[in-house]
Amino acid sequence: MSTLPPTHSGHRALDLEEPLIFELGRPGARGIDLPEGPEVTPRLGGLERQRPIGLPDLSEPQVVRHYTRLSQKNYGIDSGLFPLGSCTMKHNPRLNERLARLPGLADLHPFQPQGTVQGALALIHTLAGWLTELTGMPAVAMTPAAGAHGELCGLMAIRACLEARGDARQVVLVPESAHGTNPATAALCGYQVESIPGTADGRVDVDALKRMLGPDVAALMITNPNTLGLFERDIIDISQAVHAAGGLVYMDGANLNALIGRVRVGDLGVDAMHINLHKTFSTPHGGGGPGAGPVVLSDTLAPFAPLPYVVKDGEAWRLIEHRHEADGHPFGRMKGYHGQFGVFVRALAYMMSLGADGLAQASGDAVLAANYLLARLKDHLSAPFPGPVMHEALFDDSFLKGTGASTLDFAKGLIDEGYHPMTMYFPLVVHGALLVEPTETESKASLDAFAESCIALADRARNDPESLKQAPLMAPRRRLDETRAARQPVLRWTPPAGD
Ligand SMILES: *Cc1c(COP(=O)(O)O)cnc(C)c1O
Repeated sequence: MSTLPPTHSGHRALDLEEPLIFELGRPGARGIDLPEGPEVTPRLGGLERQRPIGLPDLSEPQVVRHYTRLSQKNYGIDSGLFPLGSCTMKHNPRLNERLARLPGLADLHPFQPQGTVQGALALIHTLAGWLTELTGMPAVAMTPAAGAHGELCGLMAIRACLEARGDARQVVLVPESAHGTNPATAALCGYQVESIPGTADGRVDVDALKRMLGPDVAALMITNPNTLGLFERDIIDISQAVHAAGGLVYMDGANLNALIGRVRVGDLGVDAMHINLHKTFSTPHGGGGPGAGPVVLSDTLAPFAPLPYVVKDGEAWRLIEHRHEADGHPFGRMKGYHGQFGVFVRALAYMMSLGADGLAQASGDAVLAANYLLARLKDHLSAPFPGPVMHEALFDDSFLKGTGASTLDFAKGLIDEGYHPMTMYFPLVVHGALLVEPTETESKASLDAFAESCIALADRARNDPESLKQAPLMAPRRRLDETRAARQPVLRWTPPAGD
């Protein structure tokens, strides 16, 4: 199959090519009529701007069309199934957005006197209560701004705790399947990272882990369910072994969407776990933000929680912002101000509108949807582990063997089918990985439609692999030179010569 014929306009049917706003502008075009300004004598001592500022001139319809077209280029969870694994792209109820925009919540300023933001402090405290209740953990640090930032908070608390014991341990153990942020966080905290091998059934090799434990191990960072979508069944045994060796257990909670309302991590022997509010408790988080990564802490780590935090003083809410006011030994601060407040509002709205039973149903439905996709696809694609899985269905590229088509070709083919591709080539321990997380958002009909597209693509890979290597044929952009884009990004528009 060759490429589609070019069009004169560059548009593809109603998918319109959109230049930069600077390229669209025409000198003298105006959206408004303003009277001439008065003559003034400059008093800037010659510092006034000599040349025009370089903003484009456009009419109002041009501006409206430009931004409307740009907004339509975004494929998100509101446009269709978004199967990205390890990200939990779930539906964000509009109620949460309405509440986050209430002027009494949206228009607060972090410098307002505490007496004027009592409701906001109560909201943070109430959310903290839900998080400790749902996880069965005694304390939570609310300020980290995202999952990776929560990891940093957890490891800093672990380091502060060990230093307080006079125990300068140097090593953090991380399973080989871990998300890249885990070893990166440990390294940023000054730890040496050692990788724990996995077993043939996709779990941490407990015997190998036990052999690695010793007086130099500060902590284990373990993801559960792990990045292969599998529950680490030996987690209690693992935590006991780490504690017996004098270390602490950090759990990466990014996959909490599979556990919420069903498993309390406090019962698993975990000392710290971040919760990606934007993954588990609904906040739109495409395009890099915003997020929030509160960290629940065990009794051992709670005294080292960072500032600031909210306490209740009689009838009033108060922020503890300084070390001398704190009961424990806070290790410092993660962030200016008080955490990602807009995300807190959404998360609490989500929890309160679903209720305890609704949250448990959401995690159950997420796990059911992933297992349904695994069952529908495992004979057409290839699954490295048999399942049952938790919230993600993982495939490898052995079904493409001998076809000449790759994981990348398959993923690009999904774009022509009208889907955002799944996560690919992650986790690294699975060859040509395709990681699919449908979440609880999808109906059986939409899961079936997605599965049928995947099956059709797998057939195409076997019968007509060349066509798949050309994909996407119908997208406005086809295969980009991603390496060059990353290495030589063009970040600045310069007017064409002669202008
Ligand atoms: C998303 C994710 C993270 C990082 O969370 P951010 O909020 O993106 O910083 C860490 N670990 C796992 C397993 C994840 O899926």
